Amino acid sequence: MNYLIKEAFQILQRPKTFAKLPNIFLVVFSYFICKLTKKNFVLGFPFMLMLEPTNICNLRCPLCITGSDQMTRPDGVMELTNFRKLMDEVGDYLIHLTLWSQGEPFVNRNFTEMIRIAKAKGIKTMTSTNGHFLIENAEKIVNSGLDVLIVAMDGASQQTYEKYRINGNFEKVKNGMKSISEAKKRLNSKTPEIELQFIVMKHNEHETDAIRSLAYECGAQVISIKTAQVYTEKQAAEFLPTHEKYRRYELDANGKIKTKLKEINFCRWVLLCPVINWDGTVSPCCFDKNAEYGLGNVFSNGGLKKIWKSEPYANFRQQIFTNRKDIPICSNCSEGLEVEVFEKENVGPDLNHPHPQEQNKYKSFKSAHV
Ligand code: SF4
Repeated sequence: MNYLIKEAFQILQRPKTFAKLPNIFLVVFSYFICKLTKKNFVLGFPFMLMLEPTNICNLRCPLCITGSDQMTRPDGVMELTNFRKLMDEVGDYLIHLTLWSQGEPFVNRNFTEMIRIAKAKGIKTMTSTNGHFLIENAEKIVNSGLDVLIVAMDGASQQTYEKYRINGNFEKVKNGMKSISEAKKRLNSKTPEIELQFIVMKHNEHETDAIRSLAYECGAQVISIKTAQVYTEKQAAEFLPTHEKYRRYELDANGKIKTKLKEINFCRWVLLCPVINWDGTVSPCCFDKNAEYGLGNVFSNGGLKKIWKSEPYANFRQQIFTNRKDIPICSNCSEGLEVEVFEKENVGPDLNHPHPQEQNKYKSFKSAHV
């Protein structure tokens, strides 16, 4: 709760936020009406957006559809002119822009310019990267105004790291984070906040303490320990850790994996945060990795505002409120799980024994997020 209050306070301090408040009120109001009635009722336009700068990636991670060649959409990067068009249409409503979905965002050469455009609209920006393009872009990233930089680092040594991050270079990622920290100091900037993200898997679960030390060494402010998403029993056997706390799946009576789902016929994301893929296609959330749900294209079907209130979107929401388990992506996602998908901690010099005066500073907080 402290985290949410802090976040709300920061949002109010940002330029242009007050003009966005009436729309936020409408969206939050209709959200609670939907939750109560389980009927599609949408007022206002999204104040949060997830956008995919590209679906191309330099690594070959086996549980990622890009890395494992399961991507059926064409490869590409979002054009800067299209990004501008989208910001002109909905930028004045947005308070939060998540800049990733599939693919490595920094493969798009216009990526830092996109962040700069969003920041000029008073939008909080956040991205997630495999960390291989940070060294050469460090000053550009800091100067873009990016607020949060999540760096995927699933191992405390090259040997563990490359078991999942195939083609990845551990030292390069480590030095990339250090470059950002140094650039922040040089440019006297508090942002971006660096968050080291560690997906717990069978081969790295013994390294959760080592990764905390590494995060501190690289200048990260936050570490997030995340559970893995798998699709098959074979992947579950190969990748899921033994520690129950870090598994979002259990086995049913037939030995099949199923998510530890708590709430079934609801979803926040279809009411709050659409996903725009690099070519403008709209997905209901980042679990629709191949854009299979036909919600439209913001660059060729009249823009996001029209699509947000369209019949296909309304029908999709209604199906979730009525019978979510019949939608294949919705039965293997993190929304409504009994377990936390993320466990986050602020990074301190000694996480197990912080100085008494610093205990509050390093107190952990948890956040359920896609
Ligand atoms: S996959 Fe999950 S997050 Fe996406 S629409 Fe379905 S319930 Fe919501």
